[in-house]
Amino acid sequence: MEIYFDNGATTQPTEQVVQKMTEVLTEAYGNPSSLHRKGQEAERYVVEARKTIAEALHVPVETIYFTSGATESSNTALLGVAARAGKKRHILAAKGEHPATGDTLKRLAEQGFEIEYLDLDPCGRVRLESLKEKIRPDTLLVTCMHVNNETGIIHPIDQMGIVIHEAAPDCVFHVDAVQSFGKLPIDPVGWHIDLMSTSAHKIHGPKGIGFLYIRKGLYLPPLLTGGGQERRFRSGTENVPGIAGFGQAVKEAYEDMAGHASHMQGLKALLYQSLSEQIEGVSVNGAPIEETAPHVLNLYIQDVRSEVLLHTLEDYGIYISSGSACASNKPEEKSPALSALGLDAKAIDSSIRVSFSRYNTREEVLEFVRVMTQVVPMLRRFKRR
Ligand code: PLP
Repeated sequence: MEIYFDNGATTQPTEQVVQKMTEVLTEAYGNPSSLHRKGQEAERYVVEARKTIAEALHVPVETIYFTSGATESSNTALLGVAARAGKKRHILAAKGEHPATGDTLKRLAEQGFEIEYLDLDPCGRVRLESLKEKIRPDTLLVTCMHVNNETGIIHPIDQMGIVIHEAAPDCVFHVDAVQSFGKLPIDPVGWHIDLMSTSAHKIHGPKGIGFLYIRKGLYLPPLLTGGGQERRFRSGTENVPGIAGFGQAVKEAYEDMAGHASHMQGLKALLYQSLSEQIEGVSVNGAPIEETAPHVLNLYIQDVRSEVLLHTLEDYGIYISSGSACASNKPEEKSPALSALGLDAKAIDSSIRVSFSRYNTREEVLEFVRVMTQVVPMLRRFKRR
């Protein structure tokens, strides 16, 4: 039996996604820029996927630009805004961002931009008061993720957009929506989002494809130049199989988004309740589970090293992720989100992330809990020796 609880890292493409991509790879393999029928056939897949995405978000089709994923989208967004900054040098960001944003901000700091961090509440959410206090007439950009990939915390993007729009109407608002797109409702226009990054592989689509939403009327210079694809904004022959697969994944994600969310929320509640009843020293990192994204659960497991637990579970065919993504001893490098919550390196090393998809089941959750009741006491005995 294989239990895949690492859907925050990536998800399994659905059968229809694979079918759609296979169709493109085997039949509609033309280059969308070619003028002949084979090219037009491929182009139709790109047009259809863009339409599906635009309709899901209630935005015009021409605001969606396909990229190689959220890393490219966020780099294009942040570096592009910086390139046309003029005299404005002030950037506001949330602590605990994914490195696609965090490391790009470090590059901008090296170029002389002033990066200031917004305060978080004790649960790790951006405090709106802090945004109101820190935003200035010379604030160039505010960047914040919608759902944190490690903790599932939901930042108040809708309200942040209103604050930014009222306090500094020219300030650009970028949102990393990788962990929320297709899982929670998003309204880029109503929420005053200017730029938004996504990746297909978090919603049962393929890897290496995403899009950048660019609000109508906002000019952004391209990061990649060349053949002039994507209306001269993102050069490079289109990843047509990836785009078609992404469109299909969006269609399926939006078919019953609320139903999928409540299913995953139910799994999360069952897992946490059963685990904390049966094992002592288990607690949630971040906000109460009812307040976080349905698919993410971040747990502190006292006296257990998460990396050892991860590999032990692997032997049972169970896949989760550990709190720490690298060997560094600095909390902020180990885990940007958990260190933003104030956890020290030791607590981060005892934290795990369990992340669900709509295809996980209650039986899988109960089996996970059963295995945990066997392995956690064993690992604790080992650690205490
Ligand atoms: N932002 C968040 C919140 C993520 O979870 C990820 C992926 O883990 C990314 C950005 C980067 O996405 P990709 O690796 O698909 O470019």
